Amino acid sequence: MKEPRVSSVWQRAGATIFMAMFLWAGGIPFSACAGIQSGSQTSEAHYSGKQGQIIVIKVPTDEASAHVQGKFLGRAVSFFQETRPGEPKGFVGLLGIDMQEEPGTHELAIQITDGEHGRSLSYRVLVLKEQFRVEHLKLPRDKVDLDPQGLARWKGEQEQVKAALAADSPMKLWQPSFVEPVSGKRTGIFGSVRIMNGQARNPHNGEDIGAPLGTDVAATNDGIVRLTVDHIFSGKGVFLDHGLGFYSMYFHLSDVLVKEGDLVRAGQIVGKVGATGRATGPHLHWGVKLNGARVNPYALLDLPFKAEPQSPTVTPPAEPGSAAGAPAQ
Ligand SMILES: [Zn+2]
Repeated sequence: MKEPRVSSVWQRAGATIFMAMFLWAGGIPFSACAGIQSGSQTSEAHYSGKQGQIIVIKVPTDEASAHVQGKFLGRAVSFFQETRPGEPKGFVGLLGIDMQEEPGTHELAIQITDGEHGRSLSYRVLVLKEQFRVEHLKLPRDKVDLDPQGLARWKGEQEQVKAALAADSPMKLWQPSFVEPVSGKRTGIFGSVRIMNGQARNPHNGEDIGAPLGTDVAATNDGIVRLTVDHIFSGKGVFLDHGLGFYSMYFHLSDVLVKEGDLVRAGQIVGKVGATGRATGPHLHWGVKLNGARVNPYALLDLPFKAEPQSPTVTPPAEPGSAAGAPAQ
């Protein structure tokens, strides 16, 4: 991967500046976006985010009847119409940066079609490396090393999940404001590299929240129950489909209180905290998949979609060559 020219800027920038840029990229209103041009700074990124984060992408367009679709690293990114009072018309998409995405600049190609007319935009997205923790875990051998029967079961379960989550629901079901499913102690180990009994395993693809057995687990937003499972590693689990390629999942439950096909509301109780599957004690494993990317579920709570209207005053960062909102046309 070719190093982007802005990388030195980013290497100098600390975490605080990164957060400011992230928020700016995410929170800037359309009216401000429309005036920004990339000009001669052709190698600079329009958006940036760390591995496991969510970037809010905005496409200003007057074409109310248009269909906007994006593609990032071969994955489809859906857009929906979102026009806030007093702002120009436009579309918004949530771009998930997978926790193992290759750091560097990648293209987000956007196609706008309106009847017979079509045009394309190209955004450059700078993926920044996240410093994930390394976790050493000691577990009973039979929970880590599967026998041939367990391995076959695990493979079948993987296929079942893949098939259930293969098609993106065409409708956006989620509403402003996301709910934390359980308020408990977060372990902060999303993305951590896991060494189990001395062997490197898949990184941790969600966040664990410690809570007493039987604690209510709430849906983070409106959605359809796409799948309920009792799997070898995740135990009893619920997969919610929030539409447009956005899924949330809740694992190790003691009880599942919803059925496949149920329509749930944000905050509705979908199950109870348990320790089923591969778990050392009662906790909720909360995971989110966004256009195929494994992202930190807590990134949802920071999204600039709130029930209350937000203040439009967002100050752009002083450093040039950071995230900007305008497409390269
Ligand atoms: Zn977990």
